[in-house]
Amino acid sequence: MLAAVNTSAKDKFLQFVDRQGLRLTRQRMVIIDLVFSTREHFSAEQLLAWARVRDASISRATVYRTLPLLTASGLVREMDFGQDCKYYDPNYAEHPHHNHIICKDCQKIFEFESDKINRLEGEISQRMGFVVDSHRLEITGSCEELRRMGICKNKDEHPGQSRRD
Ligand SMILES: [Zn+2]
Ligand SMILES: [Zn+2]
Repeated sequence: MLAAVNTSAKDKFLQFVDRQGLRLTRQRMVIIDLVFSTREHFSAEQLLAWARVRDASISRATVYRTLPLLTASGLVREMDFGQDCKYYDPNYAEHPHHNHIICKDCQKIFEFESDKINRLEGEISQRMGFVVDSHRLEITGSCEELRRMGICKNKDEHPGQSRRD
């Protein structure tokens, strides 16, 4: 789940923070390290759970205050997949053209890139006289596990709900 820290994205983020004249607390640095070392889409509550494994003193408020800074940097994108909480996507810095396909049962989110879609986007925008800022394509359906077994074993690993306490 967690790989090595993506130092180029993290460096860009730290430069952004610097330009804002902000200083980061140790707790915020833990959160930022986690965000730039996952390739998964995560909810605020998932990020809080990961962060608390590393530092039990990290509060929900710190996580919720750090997320807007991450999205403002443009390196992390807030995604509304129509589920009961928002997801954060850390892969936009390197893969700005990726798309998502989401299982309707386990709600697992997969990424894919397609040259065909990119070409089509170019053709359409040119024809309409547009310059593309961003695009968003989400496909929902039954993942292979759901199709074969009628149930997803991914489901428990990826609850996708927000919790309150
Ligand atoms: Zn993504
Ligand atoms: Zn599934």
